[in-house]
Amino acid sequence: MRLLIAMMEHETNTFSPVPTPLARFGKGGEPLRGKAALDACRGTGTATGAYIDLAEEAGAEIVLPLAAHASPSGPVEDAAYAFMTDAICAEVARGGFDGILLDLHGAMVTQSLEDGEGALLQRIRSIDAKTPIAVSLDMHANLYPAIVENATVVVGYHTYPHVDMYDTGRLAGSILLRAISGEVRPAMAWGNAPMLPHVMKQGSFENPNQALQRRCAAMAEEGALAASLFTGFPHADVSQAGLSAVVVTDGDAALARRLRDELLAEAWQKRQDFVFKVEPLAESVARARTLGEAAGSGPVVLLDHYDNCASGGTMDTTVVLAEILRQGLSDVVAFAIYDPAAVRQAIAAGVGNSIALSIGGKMAMPAIQRPSPPLEVTGRVKAITDGTFRNRGPMGRGVVQFMGPSVVLDTGAAEIVLISNHVEPYDLNCFLSLGIDPLAKRYVMLKSRIHWRAGFGEIARGIVECAGVGVCTSDYGELTFRNVRRPIYPLDLPNE
Ligand SMILES: [Zn+2]
Repeated sequence: MRLLIAMMEHETNTFSPVPTPLARFGKGGEPLRGKAALDACRGTGTATGAYIDLAEEAGAEIVLPLAAHASPSGPVEDAAYAFMTDAICAEVARGGFDGILLDLHGAMVTQSLEDGEGALLQRIRSIDAKTPIAVSLDMHANLYPAIVENATVVVGYHTYPHVDMYDTGRLAGSILLRAISGEVRPAMAWGNAPMLPHVMKQGSFENPNQALQRRCAAMAEEGALAASLFTGFPHADVSQAGLSAVVVTDGDAALARRLRDELLAEAWQKRQDFVFKVEPLAESVARARTLGEAAGSGPVVLLDHYDNCASGGTMDTTVVLAEILRQGLSDVVAFAIYDPAAVRQAIAAGVGNSIALSIGGKMAMPAIQRPSPPLEVTGRVKAITDGTFRNRGPMGRGVVQFMGPSVVLDTGAAEIVLISNHVEPYDLNCFLSLGIDPLAKRYVMLKSRIHWRAGFGEIARGIVECAGVGVCTSDYGELTFRNVRRPIYPLDLPNE
């Protein structure tokens, strides 16, 4: 058996000013290809890691032309998209495969295309009309017809934080191998509901998504080979943004449709529970301070979620950090401000020396009208690293992360992490690699929404969501939607 495996992942925030050139998929160079890609992905807790394990267990020959993943940002540059899809399609054209296993996100927008994944699958099908294709997708996929119509099997994550990437790949790949052997004949049904669930309300540890994902799992008992509920990615002004579902059965299209309809109806019924209520920033930080001054163990976590880089944030807004300092919180660690220029200044100053820096506020955000000023800070350079660490998991276990040159600036009240590549803090090693123990802090500010819970959710004595400034704004009124299908909840149907 011969299997083609490829990863091409990007969640595109169409409001983000952060550029997405090819280098973003390759940590500064080209994305990994061939043996380097295989070696980097083998043994990791990713869908690609699962595909490799399945292929090796089956004794299959593996062809892995591309392993490309970029942190969320603005639309993918056309040249980058062409490079990546050419790499995959060139192997498809050589032919001789029994199956194709793709690790995609499902919300890739390019400079020219709304549906990067669907266009890739259409192109593969135009080259090779028959070879079965498995696709694993992120729960934040914005699903398009071309994705489902040109794949044999589509399966999405069931958890957010995404701690089941590997399981998802394993399920998608297993169904495909059974289809290749003739054991099953996958039939799929998909659809969407006119709703944009708020990302802060999408966690699978609470309802309504917990119940929806449990229902997906239970559908295995009723004949579903896989049932996936995608909460979708709302910070994308594209026609199919929002919630969707795919159900795969063994040849029973009617059953697939019935189970899909049930998932979509249940989600629509719970739409009000997916709405997030914003609290004024000053109130949030004051509440965090009160929590931190009360007796208890573990830090109070302040989430600067309007600027989560893993949803396309610039990671350089400082409004939340400024309010934390203004209200006099101390024993704080802040992860992180993206500011390569400030990092270079701090490195030039050297460890142990004091420096005055103007951090953040350097990336213009045309989609957001509110100002995002830099923050003036003075502190001692406590640590300098190259920013490389390996995830301990559970999310993305084994994957190497590159924060780029990174420094810790100690202002006395706060240790501020400054980084040169966008990395969301969801793994404990992002702190430990810098010599910081977040468990020992009173306050931990994170530019994260939900994923941080994977690495250190259990350590928090309190969680305070802070409305700052950024392109992941929780106030949809700050964004101009022109292309998403209308009407859609809650943009047009807020009082239903
Ligand atoms: Zn996601």
